[in-house]
Amino acid sequence: MTMQNVGRPTRPQAATQSGHTSLTGARGLLQDEALIFELGGWDKTGVDLAPGDHDASDLGDLVRAAPIGLPGLSEPEAVRHYVRLSQKNHAIDLALYPLGSCTMKHNPRLNEKMARLAGFADLHPLAPQSTVQGALALMDRLAHWLKTLTGMPAVALSPKAGAHGELCGLLAIRAAHEANGQGHRRTVLVPTSAHGTNPATAAFVGYSVVEIAQTDDGRVDITDLAAKLSPDVAAIMVTNPNTCGLFERDVIEIGRLTHEAGAYFYCDGANFNAIVGRVRPGDLGVDAMHINLHKTFSTPHGGGGPGAGPVVLSAALAPFAPAPWVVAGEGGFKLVEETTDEAAQGFGRMSAFHGQMGMFVRAYAYMLSHGSDGLRQVAEDAVLNANYIKAKLSPVMTPAFPDGPCMHEALFDDTWLEGTDITTLDFAKAMIDEGFHPMTMYFPLVVHGAMLIEPTETESKLELDRFCDALTALAQAAKGGDVERFKGAPYLAPLRRLDETQAARKPRLTWRPDDKGVSPAPLAAE
Ligand SMILES: *Cc1c(COP(=O)(O)O)cnc(C)c1O
Repeated sequence: MTMQNVGRPTRPQAATQSGHTSLTGARGLLQDEALIFELGGWDKTGVDLAPGDHDASDLGDLVRAAPIGLPGLSEPEAVRHYVRLSQKNHAIDLALYPLGSCTMKHNPRLNEKMARLAGFADLHPLAPQSTVQGALALMDRLAHWLKTLTGMPAVALSPKAGAHGELCGLLAIRAAHEANGQGHRRTVLVPTSAHGTNPATAAFVGYSVVEIAQTDDGRVDITDLAAKLSPDVAAIMVTNPNTCGLFERDVIEIGRLTHEAGAYFYCDGANFNAIVGRVRPGDLGVDAMHINLHKTFSTPHGGGGPGAGPVVLSAALAPFAPAPWVVAGEGGFKLVEETTDEAAQGFGRMSAFHGQMGMFVRAYAYMLSHGSDGLRQVAEDAVLNANYIKAKLSPVMTPAFPDGPCMHEALFDDTWLEGTDITTLDFAKAMIDEGFHPMTMYFPLVVHGAMLIEPTETESKLELDRFCDALTALAQAAKGGDVERFKGAPYLAPLRRLDETQAARKPRLTWRPDDKGVSPAPLAAE
């Protein structure tokens, strides 16, 4: 892979397998796209500003001495640049997005419409509370349904992602231990299949992490857990359903053993989509669990928008919840902001204001439009779809845990690729040529060459069949020895196979004018 002088990989030598390339790098009606800094000059602007009637001396020392260095594009040029870039990206609105553990479901347009209502979208977080009663009421209703769906008595809405929610949960756990004279507890137990954010969060809070082994059928090894639960353990962090796509069938016993040892049970709720409306984590003995609104409750994620990771808390942890939260009183709703009175034991704050308001609106709209029967069906259909994929692909790929059904994601290993000289990565790249975003690869780490496929409930049978047919055809090509199809893939993407190690180790995230030998024009004032 060669790089051009701004650190981007060069265009493929052969853009298609037939070897035909365009003279410009464009494909069909899709033009090749330069960086915005390489486009246009420095002398243009998309807005028509009247000449100011102040002279520069009004600004004193603050007069700009050097060129500002922003690209100059007209409005149509700027629009086309971003639309062309968007066409090079995959999106849930284009096709199935089977990233396991990410729950890439359709974002209903109704949610977007509600979030754009001026009464929500145009609020300032410091607006007087008497003027934003509707927004506070919405937060209160959202909190109510999150508590109801999880069977937990309290919720902190402010964490801004799943990982931020983990941090919130562990800070509440640490505060509770300290309040109970148990501040000496220094260890957090995490299963080997955990998402990387779990051990990272525990370490960030200052705990040391000890791994719990896994059984042959992909669950927490209860014997190993019991052996490691000591008076030094502050908490366990368990994902349920776990990252192998399996329900922890001993979850009640996990909670019981944990509490018996004086520790708290943190549940990573990223996979709540598989059980929402069917199982209440509070009934399983969970003390704290984050809910990724951007997974289970369909708010956009990835490049599509900010996340939101509210954390539900058990009665034992509720007093330690971070501010703020909404309370309903005689004069209407108010936010408890100070760590005094009602919030005396709270551990502090997770963010400057109350969290991602736009995501709260979307998640609440999703809940209301589904109703309790609809949310239950979300979980049922998510599980049904994953089992359909597992059943349809098992003849050609090897399921990591063949016995019994899976929950909302189907996990395959790379045993079926043995002897083909093709790796999980090669296979995933070839999927791009077939129009499908790859599944999650090499995670969870406990499964060799893992391929974790999560279809979500929003995919129809037609779409699932198209996906399974494409993967079956690819699997047959792999077994038939068509190695080139995989090693060189993707052939048909705007850029070919990228050097992912280089990209991770030596990312070039800035552009300087001399990268391209272009200098910004001097300021008009000079
Ligand atoms: C997505 C995910 C997380 C982290 O959530 P973010 O919102 O991405 O921070 C944690 N654990 C699991 C199992 C996940 O799938």
